[in-house]
Amino acid sequence: MEPGGIVLLGPPASGKGTQGRLLAEQCGHAYFSTGKQLRRELKAGTDLGKAAEPYLAVGKYVPDELVLAIAFNWIEEADGSWILDGFPRTLPQATKLDEFLKDAKGTLRALLLEVPSAELQSRVMERRECTACPWTGTRSQAKASGHCPLCGGELGQRQDDDLENFRMRHKAFEELTSPVADYYDNSQRLLRVSGMGTPDEVFQRVQAYFKLH
Ligand code: ADP
Repeated sequence: MEPGGIVLLGPPASGKGTQGRLLAEQCGHAYFSTGKQLRRELKAGTDLGKAAEPYLAVGKYVPDELVLAIAFNWIEEADGSWILDGFPRTLPQATKLDEFLKDAKGTLRALLLEVPSAELQSRVMERRECTACPWTGTRSQAKASGHCPLCGGELGQRQDDDLENFRMRHKAFEELTSPVADYYDNSQRLLRVSGMGTPDEVFQRVQAYFKLH
């Protein structure tokens, strides 16, 4: 099956960014992370960034209306197929996305990366990301290259990657995003993949699901 629109679901640090980027590269799809965009807006001091700041600071989801606008604008401008990382994250976001997609909603697939919470916690502390492009990796990878292996940009730790914030995000995932996985499952659009193992091992599972080689 050739993927059309794909949404990535999974708890914090389950590998959505890494798998999303690999999948986007392989399929030639456009890739967008709402979390990364919100952090960019915050850094740039835009109105959206300022509105999102108090939520990001404590690991809460930002209100639906803030992310709906950026997600739909992006989909409208995306040329062809796309991968959304971190959207939809609540049931109202998922139903609004279906309304927005109209008939195309039938071809949407949701990929849920499943990882136990003890593993997620250690990943969060090791995680590094590029401030300019979709690259995410580990502290040791960042140390070895010194700058982003993809674009040469600045690498750093996310401000929200501390233990307390992670716990809040994980709780939000279980309470608000698990129902989104059920919603896609009930309409036969959910693919569940184990996110355990190396990024390559996980990607092989993802490829097998989408029958990509
Ligand atoms: P993670 O998956 O590690 O939590 P993300 O980069 O995907 O990281 O998201 C970081 C934060 O951005 C979330 O905790 C949340 O506050 C906010 N965010 C991102 N996408 C959404 C969304 N669709 N709805 C509400 N908040 C969002």
